[in-house]
Amino acid sequence: MESVAFIGLGNMGGPMAANLVEKGFTVTAFDLSAPVLESAVAAGCNKADSAHAAIEGADAVVSMLPSGEAVRSLYLGVHGLLQAMKPETLLIDCSTISANDARQVIAAASERGIAALDAPVSGGTAAAAAGTLSFMCGGSEEAIERARPVLGAMGANIFHAGPAGSGQVAKICNNMLLAIHMIGTAEALQLGVDNGLDPAVLSEIMRASSGGNWSLEKYNPYPGVMENVPASRDYQGGFSVALMLKDLGLAMDTAAGSASSTPLGALAKNLYQLHGGDPINKALDFSSIQNLFRRPAGD
Ligand code: NAD
Repeated sequence: MESVAFIGLGNMGGPMAANLVEKGFTVTAFDLSAPVLESAVAAGCNKADSAHAAIEGADAVVSMLPSGEAVRSLYLGVHGLLQAMKPETLLIDCSTISANDARQVIAAASERGIAALDAPVSGGTAAAAAGTLSFMCGGSEEAIERARPVLGAMGANIFHAGPAGSGQVAKICNNMLLAIHMIGTAEALQLGVDNGLDPAVLSEIMRASSGGNWSLEKYNPYPGVMENVPASRDYQGGFSVALMLKDLGLAMDTAAGSASSTPLGALAKNLYQLHGGDPINKALDFSSIQNLFRRPAGD
């Protein structure tokens, strides 16, 4: 497999496509945004004037789009890419979308004899740039084996979660849990600080104790405790509150579909909604949920 069509080269897709180029793939790129497309060309991609032009002669099509609606409209319908794709082309959708949307696209691909998988990612923009993303894949074993060289050029871990749509289910389970332990970590840190503890000392104690978790280990939400995390740069960069809200919305929709009980996920979504009600907060990294608990100075 040598040539890849890449659709959607934003914050994630741009660096992912650049890694494919670096690993020797011929990448033909298309994005609705002209400046985004120009950046991809500067990173070594060939420019296509449309998604249909991008897939001509491609061995695989990778898409990294903002929503299920965007993914469905790209692939499905009379003008959709599936009508133009050859059966030997592999479809890899890396966007975070609902499992149902993913299943719909993969089933439509399968009807045309096209192998397809959902392969949403964990790791964010830093891992996209470093080529160390984790891919959570849903689809047949055969499709995932075929996708391995492409995914391996962009990521460090490739998990097979189960049949079509399972990658999306794994992704939203993980991100729901991430939201919950980030909020719990922020709440505990604030309780300590309000009672005179140094947040760095408290973090060290909890990291080594039974409260230890990824948010404490790798992504401390309290400013100044850890270098090189969004909390220490005014919550700029990282994974936005808006994207966390999107994933929590998908988690709640999935829970409704399976009649699952997710009370902490629902509370986490509510707290992020409260925090993200301010458009400035919505653009900040999700660890800024710490600010929901912090008292104004002098209080
Ligand atoms: P983004 O908005 O930066 O990029 C999306 C790109 O898709 C944009 O450049 C847009 O112009 C383009 N686009 C939209 N519709 C299109 C279409 N029909 N044809 C061609 N191009 C189209 O978003 P992002 O941050 O790169 O996120 C992409 C996906 O990755 C989302 O599903 C998101 O939930 C997921 N994700 C993001 C992160 C993160 O940290 N940013 C982490 C994990 C997963």
